[in-house]
Amino acid sequence: MRCIPPSILEQAWHNSGGCCQRCGSRLAWERRGCKGGWGKWVAHSISGLQKPSLADYEILCWNCHRDEVVNRIHTFEKQFAKHHTKWIGCETSRSSSEASI
Ligand SMILES: [Zn+2]
Repeated sequence: MRCIPPSILEQAWHNSGGCCQRCGSRLAWERRGCKGGWGKWVAHSISGLQKPSLADYEILCWNCHRDEVVNRIHTFEKQFAKHHTKWIGCETSRSSSEASI
């Protein structure tokens, strides 16, 4: 994970007003990325590329961030499955013919 320039982080936090930009949960600046308890949050890269630009970040509470990551993985898996259906089919028939030897 690349580092977000502190000035961008501070600006994004300021814009959020210290609340999750999805669900509005109250967050605490010093608890960024904390592993437990109240007020933890992350600066989420909207593009996923972690651009050094304020427009690419939203402040999310831990729960919203987790949901976002899960959604992204699901989308990726769907795309991957669509792309590779053919390949998976080949692989399956090959391994079953190998098994019969
Ligand atoms: Zn939230």
